[in-house]
Amino acid sequence: MSIYAEQPVGATTDENGVMTPAMPATDPLVDRMRPFGTTIFAEMSALAARTGAVNLGQGFPDTDGPPEMLDAAVAALRAGRNQYPPGPGIPELRGAVAAHQRRFWGVEYDPDGEVLITAGATEAIAAAILALCEPGDEVVCFEPYYDSYAACVALAHATRRPVTLRPDDNGRYGFDHEALRAAFSPRTRVVLLNSPHNPTGKVFGREELTLIAELCKEYNAVAVTDEVYEHLVYSDASGPHVPLATLPGMRARTLRISSAGKTFSCTGWKIGWISGPRPLVSAVLRVKQFLTFVNGAPFQPAVAVALGLSDEYYDTFRVELQAKRDLLSAGLVEAGFSVLPPEGTYFVTADITALGGRDGVEFCLALPERCGVVAVPTQVFYDDADAGRHIVRFAFCKRPEVLAEAVERIRRL
Ligand code: PMP
Ligand code: GLN
Repeated sequence: MSIYAEQPVGATTDENGVMTPAMPATDPLVDRMRPFGTTIFAEMSALAARTGAVNLGQGFPDTDGPPEMLDAAVAALRAGRNQYPPGPGIPELRGAVAAHQRRFWGVEYDPDGEVLITAGATEAIAAAILALCEPGDEVVCFEPYYDSYAACVALAHATRRPVTLRPDDNGRYGFDHEALRAAFSPRTRVVLLNSPHNPTGKVFGREELTLIAELCKEYNAVAVTDEVYEHLVYSDASGPHVPLATLPGMRARTLRISSAGKTFSCTGWKIGWISGPRPLVSAVLRVKQFLTFVNGAPFQPAVAVALGLSDEYYDTFRVELQAKRDLLSAGLVEAGFSVLPPEGTYFVTADITALGGRDGVEFCLALPERCGVVAVPTQVFYDDADAGRHIVRFAFCKRPEVLAEAVERIRRL
């Protein structure tokens, strides 16, 4: 009988008799990450690739960003800007981020100490939550929420307190103000606000923001604002984009996040930034330095160039996206969807009930076969999945001919 008779199944022994134990048969992933599975964006893009469907799932543009930015990236790469940039980001990008916020939103940040460059907005969100939340702290957010929010809150051993956005009779998403008030408690550490909002396309109005600001102050919470769609608010929106940090008393307690991916159609570059008062930014930096340390050396100077582009760039970008929104929305209406009109972002959500759909996941999994289009079920972005079970999201950040093809296919439904 082997002296290794008791070794666990799957263990190996080398020629010297040294045993390597088997991995346990159970899932090695920590408990708190198990509910998350694979992100819906990766899953739906894989489905599109597998089926050859038009991918209106994951939100990425199918054209390149401004040529000035692309040229600057090539030049930076050729000029040898390929080694670690400084931890907080290169000074010219931090300066450009500060100048951009002054120019568009009238809010001042010192590029030295109040602005930090991150690996996309995603890292900024993760580093902010990990930097601010003790185990058991609570994070108030609105659902449906961007999927990384829930995962980051879980990584921090914090608890999410979602407030549900629901469409009214006109398809405009709103929330119960008393429910928001009830979501706050003495354990509230962070309010995580995304406006313009993915996936609903909602742009939070001044009155709503004022209530959020009052509650942040009353409960001494930090606001972390995800404003990656800051330049995508359409002309028929009920109001402009208002950064929460511009409301009275809020600059001192807000970390403002944005990134280049959406505004400059370069989602794969992963250049983002976070701005706020020095102590908050310093706390984020102390976590961020151990996540990625730094990223995207040659892309940083290129994004600095992009941020400084003329108003014409930003206006044209928005006008073109609005036309795309209208093209896709009209096609969806024609096909029988109840469209919930978005005021901003890359996305339009639609109710599938009138088409006989009851479950968005089932509907989206069947859609490539039914008509050759991929969409994303929004129920995966809710704690209260029933609130979004009948709602799916389409991305319209695609070339007009791609949208026209998608509309043609959707008509087959
Ligand atoms: N927040 C929201 C609301 C988003 O839609 C996205 C996707 N672009 C991100 C954050 C992530 O941004 P980034 O790609 O810059 O990490
Ligand atoms: N933000 C994009 C979306 O909502 C995708 C981001 C991702 O793939 N993680 O579709």
